[in-house]
Amino acid sequence: MKTIITMALLSGASLMMGAEIAGNKLDGTPIGTARGYNYEIGGVVENIQNRAFDGDFNTYFATDRRSYGWVGLDLGQPHIITRVGWAARNDGVGPGRLRCGVIQGANSPDFLDAIPLYIIPESGKIGEMTYGEVSSSKGFRYVRFVSTGDARCNIAELEFYGTPGEGDDTNLVQLTNLPTVIVNTVDAEEPYDKEHDITANIIIINDNKIDTEASGTIRERGNASRQFPKKPWRLKFDKKQNILDAPAKAKKWTLLNNYGDKSLMRNIVAFEIARQFDMAYVPYSRAVDVILNGEYKGCYQLCDQVEVNANRVNITEMEPEDITGDALTGGYFIEVDGYADQEPAGEWFYSRYNTPVTIKSPDDGGVTEQYNYIRDYFSRVEELAYTGNYSEVSGYRAMFDAESFIKYFLVQELTGNPDGFWSTYFYKDRLDDKLHAGPVWDFDIAFDNDFRVYPTNNISNFLSLSGKASTAGNFRQFANRILVSDPNGISDREKIWADARNKGRISAEKLSEYIDKMSDELAQSQELNFKRWPILREYVHMNPRVPASYSAECDFLKNYLTTRIDRLDDYLSYDPTLSGVDNIDDTAESEIKVAGDTIYTANGSQFSIYAIDGRKVYEGTTPASALPSGIYIVTKGKQTVKIAL
Ligand code: CA
Repeated sequence: MKTIITMALLSGASLMMGAEIAGNKLDGTPIGTARGYNYEIGGVVENIQNRAFDGDFNTYFATDRRSYGWVGLDLGQPHIITRVGWAARNDGVGPGRLRCGVIQGANSPDFLDAIPLYIIPESGKIGEMTYGEVSSSKGFRYVRFVSTGDARCNIAELEFYGTPGEGDDTNLVQLTNLPTVIVNTVDAEEPYDKEHDITANIIIINDNKIDTEASGTIRERGNASRQFPKKPWRLKFDKKQNILDAPAKAKKWTLLNNYGDKSLMRNIVAFEIARQFDMAYVPYSRAVDVILNGEYKGCYQLCDQVEVNANRVNITEMEPEDITGDALTGGYFIEVDGYADQEPAGEWFYSRYNTPVTIKSPDDGGVTEQYNYIRDYFSRVEELAYTGNYSEVSGYRAMFDAESFIKYFLVQELTGNPDGFWSTYFYKDRLDDKLHAGPVWDFDIAFDNDFRVYPTNNISNFLSLSGKASTAGNFRQFANRILVSDPNGISDREKIWADARNKGRISAEKLSEYIDKMSDELAQSQELNFKRWPILREYVHMNPRVPASYSAECDFLKNYLTTRIDRLDDYLSYDPTLSGVDNIDDTAESEIKVAGDTIYTANGSQFSIYAIDGRKVYEGTTPASALPSGIYIVTKGKQTVKIAL
């Protein structure tokens, strides 16, 4: 059918049918990267854009630059595009160079407002057109094709079909079910380091509508993750933005590349675990697809920048004049940081016991008084712990929120993060008499993704406390004082673990369910990602093994966690029979009753029902009926029971 229509259009019949007919082949002025490349003569040639529109499968457009080259049409006025077509360069490398190429529309000739119309999912064909249908309500005057990186924009023929009209924003194209993040920089300049901000227009499309469009900048971020061809970035809007369903309104956001993590969800699952431990702040994260200057870059994770902000690390932001009295007591946001010595002097310190600490806020390490205050505060906590003063009143616990640190530790242990003590965040608010641990961050090499510790479950005790895991300076010694030497540290860690297990917040079933849910959500995006980055069967970064498929990656996570929970039950002396969660069958005297799909209390008193993932699904006094079958945790007063419907 498509072929027949196309032949008719190519024959010129479309011109006689008039421009109003939907699906008309569109004419325009060829535009694109000026410096082309002619492989036949092996040299640069100017302005050969017409080669993609000459109806000849044997001529093709190519650019001198390896990446961000493009070719397209100025249609003279906006058109609603209904179909796009492409044909490959007529030799062996041609077809593959079209894969994951993006076709975009814009109404500004600099393409700063460009958004996607189509992504070419497979290799192209030589000597014939392939077509894709476009469902976009918005009209564009400028349309173009941008190949993936290093493909030099090789394309033999490019066609656009559509009708004139400006249209509207009601139905825009996103690459998959996930939000699409589009970053267009001035002159398509590529971010190249962590210091220089490149000016950009940033657009987020979700539910086929514009979620956010605002000016800002982009630059690289991260440490180890920057070495990969798929780069991690930091976005900074000129003005604070509410994006997607993130709680914070903020300028800075991060795009994590998840290159070595081929499940693409290690950070997402780790953050879910942190939420189940009720950590005070867990960074926002959302899987997204990313396009930079028209190039498809893959599946990323859009996250909070971890910083002081009302809905992030929620502490008072210090001013330089806050140098005495109460004002000097906070807020401070710091990182025990194995990379601290790469920071400028005055923005980090070694504590008294040789732990390197970077001051994240106040900016630039604060003024001298502030710098000294937090350095001395941290050192004092260490000193008390090292000298065995564990008192809540006069010891380290008077200055340090041990519970937050133990939760942090348990998240590192369950996820098996070898870097948990290489980078550990802490914060202290003004007039708050304690330093708190958190948030958790960076789980790329966790969940058995690091050959140095693989298999984590064969290590005979806690990973973080073993010599196999990394530590920033002497930080592990300090952690040992809290988690091992302090007798309350042992009982607290067991209590917090048992509590999370008893409430059904941490279980193999629940986490497996969560991984399955994420894997469904990521299905389309991971498929595209691994077409762009075909590394599923390759060892990259710290990979100890390479499962053969994406679903095998996800199964690996589930199997790891199932065994890990067993191990931690053991290390943390968890005894389910003493847990306080009984099966309803064992509690004949229970006031919590079940009949068919209904849960109720004998005397009509208040009770609550939680799903196995910890969500509260009911609270009240009247019977809860028509519950879907599954496992529920029901609480009434001090009684908690587990019910399988
Ligand atoms: Ca051609």
